[in-house]
Amino acid sequence: MKTINIIFIFSLLMLTSCAQEKNKEIKNINKEISTQNSSDTEWKTKLSEEQYYVLREKGTEAPFSGKLLLNKEKGVYKCAGCGNELFTDDMKFDSHCGWPSFDKEIAGGKIIKSVDNSHGMTRTEITCAKCGGHLGHLFDDGPTQTGQRYCVNSLSLEFVPTAKKEETTNKIDTITLGGGCFWCVEAIYENLKGVKEVVSGYSGGKTVNPSYSDVCTGNTGHAEVTQIVFDKTQTSLLEILEVFFTSHDPTTPNQQGADHGTQYRSVIFYRNDEQKKIAESTIKKLNTHVYEGKIVTQAIPFKAFYKAEDYHQDYYKNNKEKAYCQMVIQPKIEKFEKIFKNKLK
Ligand SMILES: [Zn+2]
Repeated sequence: MKTINIIFIFSLLMLTSCAQEKNKEIKNINKEISTQNSSDTEWKTKLSEEQYYVLREKGTEAPFSGKLLLNKEKGVYKCAGCGNELFTDDMKFDSHCGWPSFDKEIAGGKIIKSVDNSHGMTRTEITCAKCGGHLGHLFDDGPTQTGQRYCVNSLSLEFVPTAKKEETTNKIDTITLGGGCFWCVEAIYENLKGVKEVVSGYSGGKTVNPSYSDVCTGNTGHAEVTQIVFDKTQTSLLEILEVFFTSHDPTTPNQQGADHGTQYRSVIFYRNDEQKKIAESTIKKLNTHVYEGKIVTQAIPFKAFYKAEDYHQDYYKNNKEKAYCQMVIQPKIEKFEKIFKNKLK
C-alpha cells in the first residue's frame, strides 16, 4: 500500500487549478504544387459518376447527403481527384449548412479561389490547385476566428484517418474524464507537462454523435468529458487523476458549482484493467484519507467518445474575456498553476 502524496492531500484541501496556451500542430505537407492533367476520359475512369459531376462539371451534391458531413475523426481531407491534402480535422466545424465546412485550409496554396457568377449570384469558387477539381465555395460568414467557411462537397474529398500508431506503443495513453463543465477541465490539462492532446466531448450516454444541445437536455446520458492523450514517460495516470480531483468537487452528485445535471457528473472512463485499478485505488485512498467516503466519482468502462463542436475546443483560450471564463475557469487555472507549478509545460 502506498501512502498518498502529502502535496496531493494539501492541494485537495486548497482545491483547484490552471492553464495556458497550447498550439495544436497542424500537420502540413510539402508545398510543391504541380499540375496534374488528365484527359476527360481518364477522369471518367478514375472518378465515380457523382464525383465526376461535382469535381469536373462543378456540380453540387444534395445538402446533408455527403458521407463526410458529420465526420469527426482525426485525419486529413484530400482532394478526391488527385490526393492533394487540403484540410485537417481541426479545421472542420459544424456549420449546419448541409456540407462539410472548414474554417481554414492547409497552407501552401493548395486551393485556388475564383469569382463564380453562375446561378445569378456572385460567389467565390474554390478549386484544387493541383488538378483543378471543383471543391465548393468559400464564404466569409464563418463562426470561428477566421470568419471563413469553406463549404465543400463530400464527393470532392477523400478522408484519410490519422494512423493511431502512437497508441500501440506503450508510451502513449488516453483517459477520458468528466469533471463538470469541459471548458474548465480542458483548460487545466492543456498546461500539464506530458499531456499531448486534450479534446472536449461527450461520453457515457446512448445517443450517437450528440450535439451540445442534445447533451444539455440531460436525456442523452452523456457526460461532458475531456479526453486526454498523454506521454507516460512525462506524466502518469496517477498524476492526471491528482489534477482531476484537485480541480473539481468529487463529492457533489451531478453538480459542479452552479452547473446541475447528469452531464456534469464526476466520472472516470477507464480503458483497461490497469486504468481501472489506478482509478479505483485513487478513489479509495481519497475516501479513506480525505473525503470520509463522500466521493461520488464513478469509475466505469469507456465505450465511446464524441468530439464536441469546434467552438467548445480551446474554449477558455478563445474566450478569456467572457464572464464564465474569468469567474469560473480562471480561478481554477490559477490554483492549478500554483499547486502543480513544477508540472507545467
Ligand atoms: Zn485535386
